[in-house]
Amino acid sequence: MDDFGPDFTPEQVARGRALRRAQVPWALGGQAAGLLLSLVLGFTPAGAGLVAAVGGLFGGSRTAEVLGGAAVLVLLGQAAGLPFSARVRAVRTRYGLVTQGWRGWALDVLRGLALTLPLALAAVYGLYALTAWSPQHWWLPAAGAAALLVVALSFLYPLLVEPVFNRFTPMEPGPLRTALLALAERDAIRVKDVLVADASRRTTALNAYVSGFGATRRIVAYDTLLGTAEPREVELVVAHELGHVKHRDVLTGTLLGALGAAFAVCLLSLLTGRQVLLSAAGVPGVADPRSLPLLAACAAVLGALAGPPQCAASRRIETRADRHALELTGDPAGFIAMQRRLAVANVSDVDPPRPLELLFATHPSAVRRIAAARAWRR
Ligand SMILES: [Zn+2]
Repeated sequence: MDDFGPDFTPEQVARGRALRRAQVPWALGGQAAGLLLSLVLGFTPAGAGLVAAVGGLFGGSRTAEVLGGAAVLVLLGQAAGLPFSARVRAVRTRYGLVTQGWRGWALDVLRGLALTLPLALAAVYGLYALTAWSPQHWWLPAAGAAALLVVALSFLYPLLVEPVFNRFTPMEPGPLRTALLALAERDAIRVKDVLVADASRRTTALNAYVSGFGATRRIVAYDTLLGTAEPREVELVVAHELGHVKHRDVLTGTLLGALGAAFAVCLLSLLTGRQVLLSAAGVPGVADPRSLPLLAACAAVLGALAGPPQCAASRRIETRADRHALELTGDPAGFIAMQRRLAVANVSDVDPPRPLELLFATHPSAVRRIAAARAWRR
């Protein structure tokens, strides 16, 4: 089972496995802690009491309960996950994957909060304006608003969110840039530029991605990738990203996400209409801002249930982009070299246990991707 032939040395396989074993319990622990906190606050009267108490600090009005409650839920959720993500980071530091100090990490956490907090406050404010308008029919406009929000955020993400964390520069003119633009042209895809992100300020890991759609679409490569991989390997990474562009994966994913968000709002309205849940939370109905922790708990459960199907869809999309890279370049040997480079540099577990892969992996394992390239060659 452990023989991956010439692709990975036993040391490389063992190192990836050891990192996975060291970090997965903390990563999953963080998710479990967040979920548990949501459940305790939402399905007992504790959350309603907390919202009332925080609202009371700011005058006790409905608006104070809505905004104070939303803020305290976001901050508590962040606090519950923080020790676990710090531990994951410490593990990754031991494996040489982290280049950023704790100060920079703390700044990133604050930057994340500065983005999520206003957004959460605005969304929850809008939501409770709707439940006050109609405790029966709030979900109809809320579902539409949730779908629109997903589309708007995905479109604006490259403009509003990415620049908060990284600096992006057009790739420097040279043979590699010329080769990448020629590759896109051969693929009949209009690409103005390949952008380079200064990922090396945080990590030694290698990556590239596509984000945005329409006017905000962009292909981004990590500077770590350009600094360490062979030009041919970079071309194969970009060929994979062109596969995402060709199949409009970001747009499709956004539209599916929008539908999913609208559907989730409908489910939330059904769940929060159940007397047994309202009684458990100690609130009379969704028009009462003290129902916020119950809504958040139901949303957290739906989010956790949606994880594995989302990962399965993602793995299919990644497999399709891999295939596109092979068809565009006709270079399975280069593709395999690129997969080996990424797996070793990122200290990936090249062949993780199947249940972990099914539940949490957004990409097929390196061993599967390499096997698929060999199958394609035949
Ligand atoms: Zn991909």
